[in-house]
Amino acid sequence: MTDTQRQIVELARDFARTHIEPKAAEWDRTKEFPRATILELGKLGFLGMCSPEEYDGMGIDAVTYLMALEEIAAADAGVAVTMSIQNAIPTVMLTRHGTPAQKERWLRPLARGEIIVGFALSEPDSGSDPASMRAQAVRDGNGWVLNGLKAWATNGGTADLMMIMVRTDGPDARRGAKGISTFIVPTDTPGYKAGKPEDKMGLRASNTTTIALEDLRLPAEGLLGDEGMGFVYAMEGLDAGRLGIAAQATGIARRALEHSIEYCGVRKQFGRKLGEFQGVQFKLADMATRVEASRALAHAAGALRDRGQSITQHAAMAKLFASETAMWVTTQAIQLFGGYGYMRDYPVEKLFRDAKVTEIYEGTSEIQRIVIARYLGAHP
Ligand SMILES: Cc1cc2nc3c(=O)[nH]c(=O)nc-3n(C[C@H](O)[C@H](O)[C@H](O)COP(=O)(O)OP(=O)(O)OC[C@H]3O[C@@H](n4cnc5c(N)ncnc54)[C@H](O)[C@@H]3O)c2cc1C
Repeated sequence: MTDTQRQIVELARDFARTHIEPKAAEWDRTKEFPRATILELGKLGFLGMCSPEEYDGMGIDAVTYLMALEEIAAADAGVAVTMSIQNAIPTVMLTRHGTPAQKERWLRPLARGEIIVGFALSEPDSGSDPASMRAQAVRDGNGWVLNGLKAWATNGGTADLMMIMVRTDGPDARRGAKGISTFIVPTDTPGYKAGKPEDKMGLRASNTTTIALEDLRLPAEGLLGDEGMGFVYAMEGLDAGRLGIAAQATGIARRALEHSIEYCGVRKQFGRKLGEFQGVQFKLADMATRVEASRALAHAAGALRDRGQSITQHAAMAKLFASETAMWVTTQAIQLFGGYGYMRDYPVEKLFRDAKVTEIYEGTSEIQRIVIARYLGAHP
């Protein structure tokens, strides 16, 4: 680590341990969205780490951002997903394709952490295949009218701003990815209707809802970039998003490993501490190795991004490996805790529940494998 990285990681770890981890079990129980804590995180700059400095962001490199995100995820994965989305998909989209006026209006408060943002690509019938989406925007004078239903939007009910992908290729046309556009939608626009917060297995401090778009009217400047390019913009944003999910999964796995090491140092059976049994040591060694490998893959992909190279394949590899590691490591952690591991009073079952979604959102593990294989020349 450089001195700057060390300072940023220490700040993130300190905030995570003081302001997030002590409350995480309560947020998990109540499904509370910790807005005040997230806005505090914003005041420290963590919601605008990847935004350009000229728009009040930190303009930090991807590797340092991933280090900070891992610290937040180790304390609570639900808070981490908001930090991840804020720094990735909407930021990438606005930075690359926003007009100066759109950046001034939205990127600046986003980077300062004054507003919370999300993105809505998925629909009830189109998840892994988002190009089959049905929600539509039609022209209305100079502006647009949006209708349709989006699903599982993170921060759907808590964001101030949503980047929403819908079709703009006419009511009958189904031109797949080419007919999709991205709209910048303030969530107080009439016609934006968030559903009730989903009752999730994990990640419960994160708000997830459907979004009904009911004759939602936007001016011409609601369109981001070029009409019909929304799918491309979403995929660009997802590259950055998947890096964040890799760091999130690494943070979850690392925390489960730390709890396991601590527990095996005190729990005794057969008159000896668990950590004295070689069978237990082997398990901890395998867990630690996979955590380290997850972090290394994520940072390698981050370094590629910092050099301005395409990261589509490497972000998919990092997310795939880290999310499957998080699931595997948290499963081992529960095993090491035995019966206590199965109880809500102990921290590892929450980490296990939180880990699962990393194999699902921003592309399932199967979709990551499809993306990786595409780069191997294995497709006909
Ligand atoms: C907590 C949470 C938060 C989310 N946040 C957001 C958000 O902020 N914005 C957003 O747009 N979406 C969000 N999502 C949606 C998420 O991205 C989708 O759930 C995910 O992409 C999978 O889509 P699906 O659920 O429709 O599953 P499906 O696409 O129906 O897939 C079901 C299963 O089939 C497999 N499968 C599908 N196609 C193939 C194939 N070609 N080959 C092999 N296997 C295949 C999948 O891997 C999966 O195992 C969120 C989801 C969750 C759970």
